[in-house]
Amino acid sequence: MSTDAATVPGAVLEDRLVDPRGHHACEVRKGEVYRIVDVEGQQVADFLCFDLHRLEEKLSPHNTLLLNNQVFPGVGYTLYSDEAGALMTMTADTNGTHDIIAGACSRFTNEVRYGVKDTPNCRDNFAAALAPWGIEWKQIPYNINVFMNCPIQPDGTFTIELPSSKAGDYVDFTAERDVLVAMSNCPQERNKCNNFNPTPMRAIHYRPE
Ligand SMILES: [Zn+2]
Repeated sequence: MSTDAATVPGAVLEDRLVDPRGHHACEVRKGEVYRIVDVEGQQVADFLCFDLHRLEEKLSPHNTLLLNNQVFPGVGYTLYSDEAGALMTMTADTNGTHDIIAGACSRFTNEVRYGVKDTPNCRDNFAAALAPWGIEWKQIPYNINVFMNCPIQPDGTFTIELPSSKAGDYVDFTAERDVLVAMSNCPQERNKCNNFNPTPMRAIHYRPE
């Protein structure tokens, strides 16, 4: 496989530059791939998916880390639903540092943590991205965080550290069935998550050859 993020091994179905603090959603058929590219480096993408034909079946981070026996996602890591069904699998990864336990930033957690109201955030991004499919805020599950660097110490201490991703780093998620995917280009600028500076992401939806 090419290591050039712009060159995918297949037919490009959609190639979208996602603005800083922006979002994207699309339908990905079984066998197709959703690639997330960190354009400038040190940017996190919050990502989740649903069964396209039964939207009430959706990603479960808890089932995912349980069934993978692994807290840190990498190649071969399968995303499982709340019904323990395989939705997607990470099939390429040029970075190696991701998170599935930190959830998503929200206007609520930003107010608790930083005392600021009505900030741009991933939960509201997901709601905006998924509105065309009739999915409401409270129906949206928590998610995997591509390029998010959250080490866990032996005593259980959990922190958010600077991402290690470089410009052009990418991950591929291959659909195990027809899915609806959503990605929030994380707007967080009050902790190390995006090195205090949200930057663009690129989403490439392709069909492998
Ligand atoms: Zn966020």
